[in-house]
Amino acid sequence: MAAAVPSVEPATEAAAARRFLQGPPKQLLIGGKWVPAKSGKTFETINPANEEVLALVAEGDRADIDEAVAAARRAFEAGRWPSLGPHQRARYLLRIADLIEQHADELAQLITLDNGKPISEATVEVGRTVDTFRYYAGWATKFYGETNPSAPDFFNYTLREPVGVCGQIIPWNGPLSTISWKVAPALAFGNTLVLKPAEQTPLPAVRMGELICEAGLPDGVVNIVTGFGPTAGAALAGHPDVDKVAFTGSTEVGKLILQASAGNLKRVSLELGGKSPNVIFADAPLETAVALSATGVFRNQGQVCCAATRMFVQESLYDEFAERIAAKAEAIRLGEPLDQTTTMGPLVSSEQYERVLGYLKLARDEGAQAKAGGERGPQERGYFVKPTIYTAVRNDMRIAREEIFGPVAVLIPFKDENDAVLQGNDTTYGLGAGVWTRDLSRAHRVARALRAGSVWVNCYGLIDPISAFGGYKQSGFGRELGPQSIDLYTQIKSVYVKL
Ligand code: ADP
Repeated sequence: MAAAVPSVEPATEAAAARRFLQGPPKQLLIGGKWVPAKSGKTFETINPANEEVLALVAEGDRADIDEAVAAARRAFEAGRWPSLGPHQRARYLLRIADLIEQHADELAQLITLDNGKPISEATVEVGRTVDTFRYYAGWATKFYGETNPSAPDFFNYTLREPVGVCGQIIPWNGPLSTISWKVAPALAFGNTLVLKPAEQTPLPAVRMGELICEAGLPDGVVNIVTGFGPTAGAALAGHPDVDKVAFTGSTEVGKLILQASAGNLKRVSLELGGKSPNVIFADAPLETAVALSATGVFRNQGQVCCAATRMFVQESLYDEFAERIAAKAEAIRLGEPLDQTTTMGPLVSSEQYERVLGYLKLARDEGAQAKAGGERGPQERGYFVKPTIYTAVRNDMRIAREEIFGPVAVLIPFKDENDAVLQGNDTTYGLGAGVWTRDLSRAHRVARALRAGSVWVNCYGLIDPISAFGGYKQSGFGRELGPQSIDLYTQIKSVYVKL
């Protein structure tokens, strides 16, 4: 099958990506071997920039998940990974990081082809993935138990042990970085795992699987089952022999995952949707506030769970801010994502495209005014939507309450600090929030008052593996990244010794 790789990309990276795309359908990684789905089924993965088929991918379902979980269980119980010395585990993680780095351009190409984000953003994503593997390589040798004061004739200590077999279900918006958020800490702390990539973007995960094999990890430690959410994903979430599920995706599916976990009381961490407030006071550093608020909502075509979608602007600045950010939106170069000069690509899939267009219609029906965008892109093919800024929006409109997951921001005025916090917190979500002001005390007050797992002051959307990320309210629970991942991927055993 001819791979649909457009002709604008540099030759070498394109050649590597093309080599990967060509050939037989992509397979599942189970117990160290690449195998077809037991059903023999495959599905097509599409390039959202031109709607052409990139490759065929094995469509795993319950039977394949069963095999993969069994392989992960065998690897865990045989001690192939948890009993390995921490220095050895660290070395494997570093080796994976090195391999990602060596194949950075090819991986960036695959991300862009499968997901549609601009190649410049895909390159940043690969770099972050490398950082996250290296960061958790460091933790493999630095998670400790404790000794605790007890009666004189007893010695008590705690051991931090791996949770066991982890099911990791990831979304399509960061198809490589979300692998590192889940796989790197799970491995660092001695777990084995089954990864279920999103059906829209399986290719970066399959290529990562090849690199993980090249790094020489023992068989069965990392298993990858591509397939659909309601079949492969649900089978993993409900599997009786999976000890922990880590999920990133929609709040709706997060609730299903939680229900599915009840069967064997598996541990669950959920990183879900958002409708993040970005509060811009009249004394904000305006130039930066406009530029970074625009990036905060338009990066990755707005398909980011912590995107700055609700912009609260102080009344006296409202009109000027609206003009300026609309100008930024108009200046965005919407087009072929493999082109280095493109700053916005297509949405990931036809479903997502229809969904976002539905919200643009709803915005018109609700009486919002499009200061920029508000319509599909001019391209004949591909899922392009223009970067969109709405004014004349109230916080109780559906476009201000529901997660659109597209390049759409609403601008809502506020009177004072109290009003900004009240409106900002008036949401069922709590993932991210921004505050823009030159008043230091106010910045700290508002950062405390906003109910969100990450708050950015005079910046937006930074995520560094050194610091925890996760949600308040219906944006989920459990914190990934930072040392907090130790709690997600270990459990504590208390040992009493009679002296
Ligand atoms: P989105 O709506 O943005 O596509 P989803 O929450 O549907 O996000 O998908 C995120 C991940 O969850 C994907 O890997 C998807 O296959 C998986 N998924 C979807 N539905 C289910 C389900 N019922 N059980 C388990 N995983 C699911």
